[in-house]
Amino acid sequence: MNAVSPFAFDSPDQAIQALAQQITATDIENVDFGSSLASLRSVHRRILAEPILADRDSPAADVSAMDGYAICKSDLPLDGVIEVTGESIPGSPPPSRSETGIIRIFTGAIVPEGCDRVIQREHTEELAGTSADHSNSMGQIRWTERARSIPSGSNIRRQGENLTAGSVAIPAGLELTSPRLAALTNFGVQRLKVHRPVRVAVLTTGDELASASSENEPPLPPWKIRNSNASALVGLLANQPWIDCVSPIHAVDEPSVLRASVLQAIEHHDVVLMTGGVSMGDYDYVPRILQEVGAEIVFHKLPLRPGKPILGAIHSSPTGSTLILGLPGNPVSATMGARRFAMPLIRKFAGIRDWAERPPHVTIQEIGEKTLPLHWMRGVRMIQPGVAELVLGKGSGDLATLALTDGFIEMPPDANHPGPWPYFAW
Ligand code: AMP
Ligand code: MG
Repeated sequence: MNAVSPFAFDSPDQAIQALAQQITATDIENVDFGSSLASLRSVHRRILAEPILADRDSPAADVSAMDGYAICKSDLPLDGVIEVTGESIPGSPPPSRSETGIIRIFTGAIVPEGCDRVIQREHTEELAGTSADHSNSMGQIRWTERARSIPSGSNIRRQGENLTAGSVAIPAGLELTSPRLAALTNFGVQRLKVHRPVRVAVLTTGDELASASSENEPPLPPWKIRNSNASALVGLLANQPWIDCVSPIHAVDEPSVLRASVLQAIEHHDVVLMTGGVSMGDYDYVPRILQEVGAEIVFHKLPLRPGKPILGAIHSSPTGSTLILGLPGNPVSATMGARRFAMPLIRKFAGIRDWAERPPHVTIQEIGEKTLPLHWMRGVRMIQPGVAELVLGKGSGDLATLALTDGFIEMPPDANHPGPWPYFAW
């Protein structure tokens, strides 16, 4: 904390860290999906709560990486025609090596005992009588010059070279993406532990918000606005199987109503995202009510634009802690604030090991002269890889311009050079 600063924290990252310290991952659920692919889908993109161990070596034996001939060194000096005496085919045990010939092998098949290399088909001359002609002969080959230079060990995937039995295949805290589902199947996993999805409530406030109107209702009077914040926040939270976000709640600016909504949201959720009512106006009841319900206000106001009045609080109860983010009602502040502050903290609740944001950086084409003594989140549009342009709006109420952005950058106080700056995509 800076002694002369009016703010509890000097930067968004510090404020996020302070809240994160009070967050633990959600409970653990057991999922038993058997061997059916359809039920494997139930864990797709969920967050693994225990490490997955390899049940056997990968590969389980020395296998061929190519179609060709499995041989040992003494086969190579042979001149002239060599008999093929057996085949090693994927899905079958390997034949044994014969003194009188060599073994044809296919990709993935087991390398027979005593062989130390596989010579690719294309480095041999294959003579009539290959397996395709249905005669009893397995064919003959002749070495090319290239074949004789293939060293020992070539084209063999060694038993356990990917992973040995008992070692960690997938660490806890990772999202079960498609390659990880493949690893689960490869190692015979049929049940596992995942974190319960994070329950997130969106609680908007304000008397100016119109209730969802049906087509038959009269046009909206100009003193009413539509609840765009609810849509922006639901959009951020949607399509993550590790987030459970039910319908947004709305409370009018009336302390008893707000208090009841806050209490209800806290009771049933891990995270409560509020918009509006967090500034210094006469109808801004959020800070007071959060204090009344026993939440610990970790910060209120940060050196940030837009969204300076942002509030972060933790409500602790015997059943766990709830994170409460009070975002200013202005649409640009609410949307950027939710993206910047809520998303990493929700990832921490979800049990994601690397929950902290590691944003890519972009350079800004024309940054302009203007500076601010605040961390400045500025809407941008990507124009080529690593390069973005500013999308200049009319302030924190201008959601029309925000809709034209791909994300925003964040510049530290007093900066005015083109970056590269951290980029937060929508
Ligand atoms: P407040 O932070 O409550 O003072 O709200 C600031 C401004 O944000 C209001 O005057 C509204 O114009 C706007 N606003 C508040 N809540 C919403 C919302 N849910 N959706 C869209 N705009 C909102
Ligand atoms: Mg308000």
